[in-house]
Amino acid sequence: MQRLIDGVHRFRSDEFGAYRALFQRLSREGQNPHTLFITCSDSRVLAELITQSQPGDLFVVKNVGNIVPPANVTGETNSTAAAIEFAVSTLNVSDIVVCGHSQCGAMHALLEGIPNRAAMPHLEAWLHVAAPVRDVIHLGYQHLTDRQARANAAAEENVLFAIENLKAYPAVQARLSDGSLHLHGWFFNIATAELFAFNPESKQFDPLARPTA
Ligand SMILES: [Zn+2]
Repeated sequence: MQRLIDGVHRFRSDEFGAYRALFQRLSREGQNPHTLFITCSDSRVLAELITQSQPGDLFVVKNVGNIVPPANVTGETNSTAAAIEFAVSTLNVSDIVVCGHSQCGAMHALLEGIPNRAAMPHLEAWLHVAAPVRDVIHLGYQHLTDRQARANAAAEENVLFAIENLKAYPAVQARLSDGSLHLHGWFFNIATAELFAFNPESKQFDPLARPTA
């Protein structure tokens, strides 16, 4: 905790100056983020760092395994839906990124079960939402014997599961149908900081390309 408190003071004394005008403007005008960024709670995946975004740029949802539940999942297992509705209908983001990652503990737990599951009933219920991803891996990826490769495949399939689920939310459907919202599936490799984006044409995750001018 001391490190956190020291960090807060260091930010106020050393860093805040560079951001003062930006924070004051955001305070005055409110937030106007361009993107809803859904990623994993993992401490190594920092949406703003890896995209070099500024305060006010991203509306971020972090949950265990960056799972987007199906639209018909309600109640305690779908707080993510609340963020999706708000970002899409009120903040009017133009893009949604779902970003999975390598070495994802949630994907390992999804495939291999939760250690000490009696102590974590909420985690078990949450991961159950992504059970279709586990089924896809068990049925379609039997050739992958390496544990890490299976987890990475699950992370990619889980991103596609999230994108498909997003399309079923009424708030998202409305914005997709008028062409004002775009969905993106990404995968972040922690060791190399490489980002891959799902290409619907090749049906592969390709290295994230710079937009052509
Ligand atoms: Zn993760």
